[in-house]
Amino acid sequence: MSQAEHQAIFPVDLSQQVALVTGASRGIGREVAVQLARCGARVACVARNLQLLEQLVEQIQSEGGQAHCWSVDVADSQQVNQVVEEVVARWQRLDILVNNAGITRDTLLPRMQDEQWDEVMATNLRGTFLFTRAATRPMMQRRYGRIINISSVSGLRGNKGQSNYSASKAGVIGFTRSVAMELAGRKITVNAVAPGFVETDMTAALGEMFKDEVKKRVPARRLGQVADVAACVLFLASPAAGYITGQTIAVDGGMSVGL
Ligand code: NAP
Repeated sequence: MSQAEHQAIFPVDLSQQVALVTGASRGIGREVAVQLARCGARVACVARNLQLLEQLVEQIQSEGGQAHCWSVDVADSQQVNQVVEEVVARWQRLDILVNNAGITRDTLLPRMQDEQWDEVMATNLRGTFLFTRAATRPMMQRRYGRIINISSVSGLRGNKGQSNYSASKAGVIGFTRSVAMELAGRKITVNAVAPGFVETDMTAALGEMFKDEVKKRVPARRLGQVADVAACVLFLASPAAGYITGQTIAVDGGMSVGL
């Protein structure tokens, strides 16, 4: 691969910095991890599938970047605290946290099982809470931090069949705003990114007809790509974004304009 192919899509200087990305084994999180590494950050890659994480670390290292991976369930308080401790022990700091791990368990409300509600809340909302709480300790010590929480347009506008998912992603937005107010004085920013419809494993099962329908509802007339989301994350993770906090930025080709 040529040098140009290894350039970040949004070039920011994150050398010396340490980033942790949850849900890094696939999709948006994987792309965010690759891009952060291309900007010079040392990247802690977190998800459950260790094999996929190891492949990611190999890719980052083959491009000259630094990364290490941990198999963690984001809903497990003990595992979360331990990985943050290990990251700080390894690299002496934690500057950037991207809470990206997320799942869907879609069904209409009357058919929704307790487990479908609980699993989505545990991964999407509790996971974001646990990692943010753990990461703010080292960030507060250094009086610097960038926390980026991946929400969803479903959390802004709701979606049929996604009451559990929408509630969790709206919860992420409320959490983001509150924690942003608590941490602003410590020079730690906390923002959310709300993707629209992005082509990943999460959306792969939806058929071509459904995708064509979605395209009609997107003013940009195309589906989102993982790089579209990663570019926004890189900007919010950069030192230049220090006066932006508590915000939710939709990366959705205009789907939520006017909400
Ligand atoms: P994806 O391809 O399904 O990847 C989800 C990631 O989350 C995987 O790396 C998965 O890794 C990880 N994960 C799930 N449960 C976990 C757990 N309990 N502990 C640790 N890691 C866990 O999804 P995606 O489309 O990239 O979505 C990434 C984020 O963007 C999610 O928060 C999603 O809600 C949000 N989003 C996506 C879209 C879209 O259209 N794709 C739109 C709006 C918002 P393991 O399976 O290896 O654990």
